[in-house]
Amino acid sequence: MSRSAHPAGPRHADVLTEGHYSAPAADLNVLDEKVWSRTVTRDADGALTVGGIAVARLAEEFGTPAYFLDESDFRARCRAWSEAFGPDADVFYAGKAFLSRAVVRWLKEEGLNLDVCSGGELTTALDAGMPAERIAFHGNNKTVAEIERAVEAGIGRIVLDSFQEIVRVAHIAQRHGVRQRVQIRVTVGVEAHTHEFIATAHEDQKFGIALADGQAAEAVRRALSLDGLDLIGVHSHIGSQIFDMAGFEVSARRVVQLLAEIRDEHGVELPEIDLGGGLGIAYTSEDDPREPHEIAKALSDIVTRECEAAKLRTPRISVEPGRAIVGPTAFTLYEVGTIKPLEGLRTYVSVDGGMSDNIRTALYDAEYSVALVSRTSDAEPMLVRVVGKHCESGDIVVKDAFLPADLAPGDLIAVPATGAYCRSMASNYNHALRPPVVAVRDGEARVIVRRETEEDLLRLDVG
Ligand SMILES: *Cc1c(COP(=O)(O)O)cnc(C)c1O
Repeated sequence: MSRSAHPAGPRHADVLTEGHYSAPAADLNVLDEKVWSRTVTRDADGALTVGGIAVARLAEEFGTPAYFLDESDFRARCRAWSEAFGPDADVFYAGKAFLSRAVVRWLKEEGLNLDVCSGGELTTALDAGMPAERIAFHGNNKTVAEIERAVEAGIGRIVLDSFQEIVRVAHIAQRHGVRQRVQIRVTVGVEAHTHEFIATAHEDQKFGIALADGQAAEAVRRALSLDGLDLIGVHSHIGSQIFDMAGFEVSARRVVQLLAEIRDEHGVELPEIDLGGGLGIAYTSEDDPREPHEIAKALSDIVTRECEAAKLRTPRISVEPGRAIVGPTAFTLYEVGTIKPLEGLRTYVSVDGGMSDNIRTALYDAEYSVALVSRTSDAEPMLVRVVGKHCESGDIVVKDAFLPADLAPGDLIAVPATGAYCRSMASNYNHALRPPVVAVRDGEARVIVRRETEEDLLRLDVG
């Protein structure tokens, strides 16, 4: 992205000419449909509405800050992914992006499968009625108790991430008298983020078993030799917020090569490959994500081509989008509290939330957009930084954006594309109360995760 090289911070007055933000949109009142969920629009009075409900009403009923999730958009995205990949592939929603019992029910109804990576996520999935065989369990250090619970529940697959885990899962499965379906997560030496990918030297991380030095082939050897395991395939996940398909291409090629080596050595053709998640979404108008059908076509073309070359039967493909499904479906609604113009720099706009409800800006230097949503304005654009109320100068929600110069305390502003990794990474820093998630659909709004209360805080603090 053109704006990825940020200076450390505004140090001098000519920061305005440094150009690490885009020019203001021609009309700040226009909502770019790329970054807002599908039912978002402005009503006759200029207020943003979602699912037919105006934000002023939502703020009054549910308070701020709060996440508003466009349920019909979420369901439409699930359907788009499963239709794009068709009956010969499986779509697993990555629950870590955002998981609640309502979400699990929607996934189940829309025919998706679900990835979990902790006992807590597994409990949520099972409690909301997701059939265990449609759940996959990930993670580089699943506890014995978590593995036991997954095996007992009859989970569809466990993605093995280390040599210890191969043995651990095999033992537990045997003790329960089952053969557990498993995949092995391999590290293909590709790391992709946004528009770039690097095809070497990225084995230096905690996930998976390296392909390069024969470790993955050794893991396959061991898994095939253990009675408790039914090795169904190989798994690769290369990064996050990826727009460029080149990294997936390299990853798919290397995974298929491994399948060919396994066939040559063991005489078995593993029936499945999982190419992970990581597909990018539009956080700002400059991002151009691909549609699910383009992604599905690109991946299946690569796999088919590589399998033909290796004379392998084409395996069943699975993918694991998290962000690409839930990210675009929600926005965070904040009330403006204080406004500080810093002469020659920018205007700091403080909202009633911050890094406790969106850590991504502080953690990843993530970029977001923001809009005045309780009204329209014809005032000039002003360069703003939207910050939270926490005791931390890195408590930034939107680093560089434009809002109308007549912005005033009490105005409602909204940050779009906060459906993924915001509520799920929310914290209680400064004893903040984590905001609710409100699902909006066809003129109705209902809380699916309630706001935390001070009683909740005190209940955990046992004195
Ligand atoms: C995080 C993760 C995903 C989902 O990533 P997104 O960027 O949300 O699509 C999928 N698979 C695995 C193994 C992951 O760790």
